[in-house]
This record gives sequence, structure tokens and C-alpha cells, in this order.
Amino acid sequence: MTTNSEFRTNFYVCIVGSGLVGLACGILLRRHGFKVTILQKDLTLGTLGAGIQLHPNALRVLKDLGVYDKVRAVSILPQAIILKEYKTGQVLHTQDLLQATEKYDAPVVTIHRARLLGILYAEAIARGVVIRHGVSIDVAGVDLAGGVLRLAGPSEEIIHADLVVGADGANSVIREAVTGGKPAVVPHGKVVNRILVDEAAIMARPRLRHLIERPNIVVWLGPGGQAVTYGLDGTFNIAFTWPWSADPKDAFFGPQKVDFEEFKKGLAAWEPDLRELMELGGDALRWMFFEHPGDGEETPWLDPSGRLCIVGDAAHQVLPYLAQGAALGFESASILAHLLGKTESEQQVRDCLDVYQRLRKERTGHVVRASLKTSRLWQLPDGPLKDERDREFLNEVPSAGYPNFLADPFFREWLWGFDAKAAAGEAWARYEQERV
Ligand SMILES: Cc1cc2nc3c(=O)[nH]c(=O)nc-3n(C[C@H](O)[C@H](O)[C@H](O)COP(=O)(O)OP(=O)(O)OC[C@H]3O[C@@H](n4cnc5c(N)ncnc54)[C@H](O)[C@@H]3O)c2cc1C
Repeated sequence: MTTNSEFRTNFYVCIVGSGLVGLACGILLRRHGFKVTILQKDLTLGTLGAGIQLHPNALRVLKDLGVYDKVRAVSILPQAIILKEYKTGQVLHTQDLLQATEKYDAPVVTIHRARLLGILYAEAIARGVVIRHGVSIDVAGVDLAGGVLRLAGPSEEIIHADLVVGADGANSVIREAVTGGKPAVVPHGKVVNRILVDEAAIMARPRLRHLIERPNIVVWLGPGGQAVTYGLDGTFNIAFTWPWSADPKDAFFGPQKVDFEEFKKGLAAWEPDLRELMELGGDALRWMFFEHPGDGEETPWLDPSGRLCIVGDAAHQVLPYLAQGAALGFESASILAHLLGKTESEQQVRDCLDVYQRLRKERTGHVVRASLKTSRLWQLPDGPLKDERDREFLNEVPSAGYPNFLADPFFREWLWGFDAKAAAGEAWARYEQERV
């Protein structure tokens, strides 16, 4: 008879994409004894973007991955999330993060993406994950029924996997294979302009040096846009969301260079401190934002044979206003890996993917909608609605419906208190009970 661990040792998982989520998934699957290879199209470990916030639900997974101490050693611990009115700089709301650290047994941190990716990459290699660079899959190379991948390019090498996990990001080819088409392009009508400033230059400006001396996540809420700023240990990160055409014809993918001088001219009405900060930046790159409807029952995240599934941005890309994209991806990777770690047969793998899909669609769908709503609330134009929002910020105790969801104690508990590994265990126990 095949034992549980023998089954896993002989079970071969091929993950497409070595982003944050693919690596996290690979590490946990190896821990459960599976054979794991990750295919990565780039030759090097490149990352786009600079900073990322990690909230307690993300850090709980990183603890489970065994990389928490390494992440903490190279990250910044902001004391608060501060929301400001864009013209006057008036503080509308301060959300203490140090209390949250105690409550959730994990902090909120900011970290350079490349450092985070490097830590996960090193851990994956140390655990015995095989990572192949410079190999890509296109949709024609995916055989749904057989779990067979034909690599793109002249070699046409064939890979036979017991399970293919698509962690290949927002433009996932595995998603396309599983759902039978590309998702509709729904522009959010915004771009994000990313500006990096040397922290030494900020320290030389008396009005600005508090940004470094008291690390916080500071957000200026403006009409149709917002500026999110935080430190990254030597570099200061500014992610400036700005209006853009919502016409799909004007959509672009990947970063574009911004006419920085022109962009700064559009900031005449914004608080002088923010404009002074922007003067310290040399240039900017922009990315376009797309909306994700949140998948319902009808959109599959796995194929009927149970040989392919999707995870991370490939499954549930979310606008970044609640800083939850990677966090949700880590949660999904954790749930998928811990569920798979319970399986003893191919039939159970198929069932486990069903459980995974059910569990994750509901939660990620809520966050997708809450993030979209946050952008509408935080980027209101001047007028009575904005005045009412600011009044609520200033005068009301955060509760359900408060315009900062992260400060609403019910939503925050649901979001930050989530323990992905425990949720996988509970879902598996329910599955076993139903089988009896
Ligand atoms: C402006 C902005 C700010 C954000 N801020 C935050 C934040 O503060 N906190 C947070 O939690 N999240 C944040 N996010 C979201 C977060 O960055 C993403 O959710 C996360 O990086 C997704 O990781 P992933 O591994 O699923 O996908 P990706 O990072 O896209 O990785 C996919 C990988 O697959 C590879 N790949 C793609 N296609 C193929 C193929 N055909 N063959 C082989 N390899 C392939 C790619 O090269 C890539 O390495 C932000 C996003 C944006 C845009």
C-alpha cells in the first residue's frame, strides 16, 4: 500500500512563474515532500516596481515559510498609516500599526521587492525546489487533459507533470488555458507613477526629514489620484496614482517612462511638502491599472481533470489600494500547498483543488471589491461627498462602513487575522467529515 508520504514523493508538481507566489508555493510543497520544478521565462530574477507593504496576514505565511526573521532584518517597521487631505496636508486619520502588531502577532512592514524575492528564492533553492530560467510556456503548449507542457521555443521539450500550478501573474497563460480565453481588459482609468528618492536628500530638507525619522505610510488623498509614500531603507518610495484614459484602446502593458516635469506641473494644488518631496525625484515610470471583476462560480481556476490550477495574480489580481495583492497570493499558495499536503491519492488531489477554489474565490472576491471601493472613496473630487468623507475621518470612531477599511475593526480582523494554514486544516477536516 502506498503511504501518504510515498504518494507525495512520487507526485511531480510543475509551477509556472517564479514570482513571490510561485516561490512561496514551491517552498511549502517541498516541505510536504512533493517534487517541485518552477519554470521562469526570464533569464534572471528580475522584479518590477520597488516597494511593497506586507500586512499581518502576509507575514503569518512568511513565518510559516521560515523566512520571517530574514524579511524583518531588511524591512522597515512603519508606526502608522496616515491619511492626509491633498491640498492642506491636514491629517484626516492616523491608524496605529504598533498596536496591530501586538494584536495580530505580526507587524506591517515595508520592504524592497527585490530583497523579498531574493529571500524566497534562496529558501526555495535550499529546500530543493528546481528553478529553470529562460523557459516559457505559451497557451498552445498546454495540454489540459494530460498535465503536459510543451515549452515554447525551438527545443519543444515536453514536461509531464502530475499537477501544473499557474503562478504566472496577471497575464497568465495557464489561466487562459484553464478558462478558454483571455480575460476582458477593463482599464481602471488610472496609472501609478513610481518615483524613488534618495533618503539622504530628504534628510537634507528640514521640512521633510520627519518622513525618514518617524517611518510611516503616508497617503495623500486627492481628486482622481493619491500618493502613497514610505521608506525602504535608503530609498523612499512614492506610488502616485493618477487619472488615465479608461478606453481599452489606450491600454498599455508594462512600464512606460513618464514626462516627469509635465507630471509635476499637474500638482500645483497639492500640499507644498509633497511637491517639495517630488522635486527630489529624478524621473518616474508608470504602470496601468486594470480592474478584475472577481471570479464567480462560472470561471474555473482548475481544469476538470484536476491537473492544472492557478494561484496568485493569475487567479485573483486585485487593485493595490489595500496593499493586499501579494498577501492574498501568499495566502492562496499556503492553502493550496497545505491542502495538497494532506492528500493520499490522485482523486484526493482533484477534490483538494475544488476545496481550494471554493475557499479562495469567496475571500479574494471580497478584497477585490473592497479595494475598488477604497479607490472611489479615497480619490473623490472636491465637493460635498469629499467633505462628508473628511468629516467622517475626523469625527467618527472607525467601525463598519468607515472610509478606511483597514481601520474598520471588523474588516481588519477578518483581513489581518486570517491564518491560511489553519484555514486549510479546517477545510480539510470538513472535507473528510463529508466523505464519511
Ligand atoms: C503599484 C502596485 C503596488 C502594489 N503594492 C502591493 C503591496 O503593497 N502589498 C501587496 O501585498 N501587494 C501589492 N501589490 C500586488 C503584488 O505586487 C502582486 O499581487 C504580486 O506581486 C503577484 O505575485 P505573483 O507571483 O502572483 O505574480 P507576478 O509577480 O506577476 O509573477 C509571475 C511570474 O511568472 C513569470 N511568467 C509569466 N508568464 C510566464 C510564462 N508564460 N512562462 C514562464 N514564466 C512566466 C513572470 O516572469 C513572473 O516572474 C502591488 C501591485 C502594484 C501594481
